[in-house]
Parts: sequence; structure tokens; C-alpha cells
Amino acid sequence: MKLVFLGPPGAGKGTLAADAAVDLKLSHISTGEIFREAVRAGTPLGLKVKSILDSGGLVSDYLTVELVKERLAQPDVSGGWILDGFPRTIPQAEALEIFNPPERVVNFDVTDELIIARLAGRRTCPSCKRIYHVTNMPPKKDGVCDACGAVLVIREDDSESSVRHRLVTYRRQTAPLIGFYEVKGRVLTIDAAGSPSVVYEGFRKALR
Ligand SMILES: [Zn+2]
Repeated sequence: MKLVFLGPPGAGKGTLAADAAVDLKLSHISTGEIFREAVRAGTPLGLKVKSILDSGGLVSDYLTVELVKERLAQPDVSGGWILDGFPRTIPQAEALEIFNPPERVVNFDVTDELIIARLAGRRTCPSCKRIYHVTNMPPKKDGVCDACGAVLVIREDDSESSVRHRLVTYRRQTAPLIGFYEVKGRVLTIDAAGSPSVVYEGFRKALR
């Protein structure tokens, strides 16, 4: 099975993809991980990515496509995969159609307001990186890390203005992708408002 997972930041897509990969015996392929791995391995494409990232630039559609293509050609993913973070643009989706089209595109649907509420309640330990949530997963003592006693902070990425900005970018990039796959009849839309286990159950039912 070849799946693409789409979902806004804060929808829990990465965790869902990791769980689904184990459950369905598929390879979980995230673009972030492909970039890091290519840089680490020092392949020609990896060296290009490194120089772009080091200079603070964005990796182009072309280079991203080449890296994903290279990754999907490796034997360890021949049993099927879940792509997480790719495609992100129409040119990327068009390229994927040519070299390795996905069978299903899973759209984890959740409102912006719910995502903002989730992320705005997130607290991070600056020392051991443990993550808490003021209502869903509070520390034993208010504002203090259970594990190491450090004072918890709100990461810049989790601030409301930053979350709103990321959501606007996501909606702008992803809405056309959903349309692209919808006309091909491949989109499964899953309600992602519930707890991770409820969302996962919804996904498994829809996949049958
Ligand atoms: Zn800590």
C-alpha cells in the first residue's frame, strides 16, 4: 500500500503515520528525515541540501523530488510506504504521479481553532525537552518539569501568532493538493478532532 498523509501542524500526523506504519507494516518516510539522512550520508544530493540549509535557504521542489525519488527506489521500502511531509506542492504531486503514484491520500481534517487551542496549551521543558499540555497532560507541579525540575516554557513555534502563520501557509499549499487528488478519487478525509486513538480508529475504518 502507498499512502500520503496530509494534515496541518498540530494534527498529530507524524505520530499517526508512525503508528500506521507499524500496524500496516509500511515504511514511514518523512521528508525531514530524508533530508537529514542524505546530509549524513554525504550523497551528491545530500551535499546540495546541506549547502542550502546551511545558508538558510529552502530546498527546491526539484531537489526535494529527486531525494524522494531516490528514497522510494530503495529496497527497504518496496513493501509499501506512508509519505509524511511530501508532496507539499502541485509540482511535487505531479512528479510523484510519474514515478510512484500513491494509492490513497489521507487528509486529517481538524479546524484551525482546535489546533490553536492544542498548541497554545503546550509547554516544553527547555532542559530535557519533555512536552506537557496545561489541560491534556499537565505536570504534577504547575509550570515545572516532572523529570528534571526545570521551569517550563512556551516554544516560539507554539505561540498563537506563529501557529496561525503556519496554518495559513498550510491551507494555502494543501487545499490545491486535496483538489488534485480528489478528482482522481483517492482522498480519504478523516475527522482528526478526537484523541489520537479515536482518530486512528477512524483512519483504519476508512481504509477498509
Ligand atoms: Zn525537564
